[in-house]
Amino acid sequence: MVKIPKLMRRLCPFCKKHVEVKVTEAKRKGLSSVHTQSKGSKVRMVKRGERRGVGNYGKSNRPPIARRKMAGKKQSKKVDLRYECKVCKKTTGPKSGFRAKKVELV
Ligand SMILES: [Zn+2]
Repeated sequence: MVKIPKLMRRLCPFCKKHVEVKVTEAKRKGLSSVHTQSKGSKVRMVKRGERRGVGNYGKSNRPPIARRKMAGKKQSKKVDLRYECKVCKKTTGPKSGFRAKKVELV
């Protein structure tokens, strides 16, 4: 269990100084959870030419989960935090999250 304070003093890239920020937890979403009709989905990115059309995006020829090499290896998930500046109300995220089984905002 990792305890994180709800209020922190952090550098705001918009105000360019240390200010008090409000910490909230956001859910980390991958491309697999994006709706197929939304702008950032794999299918639409391929159509726009932003993503090369290699492979069949897991439609077929996939081994069962138990036979995949990394299946079920990781015990923890990366924590995704958001920091809301109290002065300009803009939100920033971390450069890269850290791994933890459970996170508690104190
Ligand atoms: Zn700010």
